[in-house]
Amino acid sequence: MSSECLFCKIAEGSIPAEIVAETESALAFRDINPQAPTHVLIIPRGHVESLNEVDDPEMMGELVRLSRMIASREGLENGWRWVTNVGGDGGQSVFHLHFHLLGGRRMNWPPG
Ligand code: AMP
Repeated sequence: MSSECLFCKIAEGSIPAEIVAETESALAFRDINPQAPTHVLIIPRGHVESLNEVDDPEMMGELVRLSRMIASREGLENGWRWVTNVGGDGGQSVFHLHFHLLGGRRMNWPPG
């Protein structure tokens, strides 16, 4: 837990969020500023700043499994997108690892 981290506070329950799924080590909640009909953030409970700091393949597997389960539950059988922004140039604004699960509309490419 990093005391100033927004997503750590969501993970511990001190800041509310619309939780859609959780496991012992991961949490998924709706993005407060959705960019698609489904926009869910999937995070590890433990504080990891970004993909640059990931060294735990089991944790990554858990995030993948949880994301696929949510995509299925949200009815995204036509496809969906999984995005993580890394650092300033990557567009990261919250420095606790999170994956954006986006779906429910046709995604554009390039993402910009
Ligand atoms: P990123 O810019 O990739 O770091 O993504 C951070 C995301 O967190 C953005 O899509 C924000 O809309 C979202 N966000 C910020 N604050 C909250 C919050 N309190 N609850 C849910 N999502 C949030």
